[in-house]
Amino acid sequence: MSDRISHWIDGKPFTGTPARSGDVFDPATGQVRAQVDFAGDAEVEAAVAAAKAALPGWRGTSLAGRTRVLFAFRELLSARKHELAKIITSEHGKVESDAAGEIARAIENVEYACGAAQLLKGGFSENASTGVDVYSIAQPLGVVGVISPFNFPAMVPLWFVPNALACGNTVVLKPSEKDPSAAVFIAELFAEAGLPAGALNVLHGDKAAVDGLLEHADVKAISFVGSTPIARYVYETGTRHGKRVQALGGAKNHMVVLPDADLDLAADAAVSAGFGSAGERCMAVSVVVAVDPVGDELVAKITERMSRLRVGDGRDPESEMGPLVTKAHHERVVSYVDAGVESGASLVVDGRGIEVAGDGFWLGPTLFDHVRPEMSIYTDEIFGPVLSVARAASYDDALALINANPYGNGTAIFTGDGAAARKFQNEVEVGMVGVNVPIPVPVGYYSFGGWKDSLFGDSHAYGPEGFHFFTRTKVVTSRWPDRSHAGVNLGFPRNS
Ligand code: NAD
Repeated sequence: MSDRISHWIDGKPFTGTPARSGDVFDPATGQVRAQVDFAGDAEVEAAVAAAKAALPGWRGTSLAGRTRVLFAFRELLSARKHELAKIITSEHGKVESDAAGEIARAIENVEYACGAAQLLKGGFSENASTGVDVYSIAQPLGVVGVISPFNFPAMVPLWFVPNALACGNTVVLKPSEKDPSAAVFIAELFAEAGLPAGALNVLHGDKAAVDGLLEHADVKAISFVGSTPIARYVYETGTRHGKRVQALGGAKNHMVVLPDADLDLAADAAVSAGFGSAGERCMAVSVVVAVDPVGDELVAKITERMSRLRVGDGRDPESEMGPLVTKAHHERVVSYVDAGVESGASLVVDGRGIEVAGDGFWLGPTLFDHVRPEMSIYTDEIFGPVLSVARAASYDDALALINANPYGNGTAIFTGDGAAARKFQNEVEVGMVGVNVPIPVPVGYYSFGGWKDSLFGDSHAYGPEGFHFFTRTKVVTSRWPDRSHAGVNLGFPRNS
């Protein structure tokens, strides 16, 4: 039996007849579990109009009032995280413990947004000139659009929505059409937390929905996360339409292992960061750069750990890695494995033959060694459980390889030498760096973002840069002439 997933507009499901819809799969069984409505012009208009109508009321709600809604949402999200994790697993395929981890990171962002009263304080300069005070205030932008990818259906929307709301904006969220239910669950929780109708709307769909938001005059800003070609398109189209845009793109993350590294720690990290969530993470490690002479020993340790990885339905607590998200994505990832073999990389572990019951989109963990920069398994973001090992003769060669790569999202170095780590963090051209930490996703009170082709725009996501992105500042210069010398009664009660 399959269900219908409707837009959420003006505080309730939007139940008009959709002109188009899409299939949502259960990736572990390969079965269609629901149909999701796809927005056209009318639905885009309805969602933006609802957000616009809600804006004066929400913007006018006191800081205390807005914060209370965020605290209430945080409590509801914590109380119902297991339910949400199950929803994520049923549409994305990641194992439930991983879905729970995604929600934990999302909660950090909600907690950050709960500090809005402190974070929105402006500056004040008394007597900048005689009798003149100057101060700044941060105001919301208006209606903002959030467009998110499939791989973190709860966390990525919650990178933006809490901060946007905390700053007094209203939101139209366009989640991925591959796993849209988490976004609706989040909107329902916000409604239960007391968010007024229309302040958060969920619009489902594909390019038509995205284009509708990018071109709409009442949408003032866009926060986008997805693949690099679409991020570039969203940035260019949104800015051409006069909007503030932050567009986070794809990645090819390298993990350097120096000869003095703890190789067991490095191998554990490579396996968890390479194959967690079946490699469908923008911070997944895709390339391990083994600096001579550690290559053979490191590959042996990684291979041994891979043989113990349990692949299966994400609902089974024994499973450590689930399926890929869709059949089309599965075919794409498998084609990269085929191309890797053809290009001459050595296939150490082949995940193509894996057998799991049902018609799910399964690919086992796969390892290539001796991968060279011209091979497509190196140049392209594969976004699957395919880990490459490249050999480098020295630290300098490893650094040059990373800095020549067009992506610059995350990277890590494994070493026992603090000075080497410090040199690396200084020299590497990547936005987020881990030292003996394979997936250096910043905590909620820093900001998340890559460099180069991994981010278009100049604001990173969430944290301080999130608040900066979702507000515009106004500076007031004010003079209140003191007329008491002229014998003017100022009207203050005499004995107060
Ligand atoms: P995607 O680019 O296919 O889709 C992202 C969003 O754009 C979705 O909402 C989708 O509906 C929409 N979209 C797709 N095609 C479009 C088009 N032609 N025109 C307009 N909109 C379109 O990405 P995905 O497959 O959902 O997610 C995986 C990608 O996201 C990977 O490249 C991954 O690295 C990236 N990602 C990046 C980060 C980051 O922080 N940099 C985080 C998570 C995911």
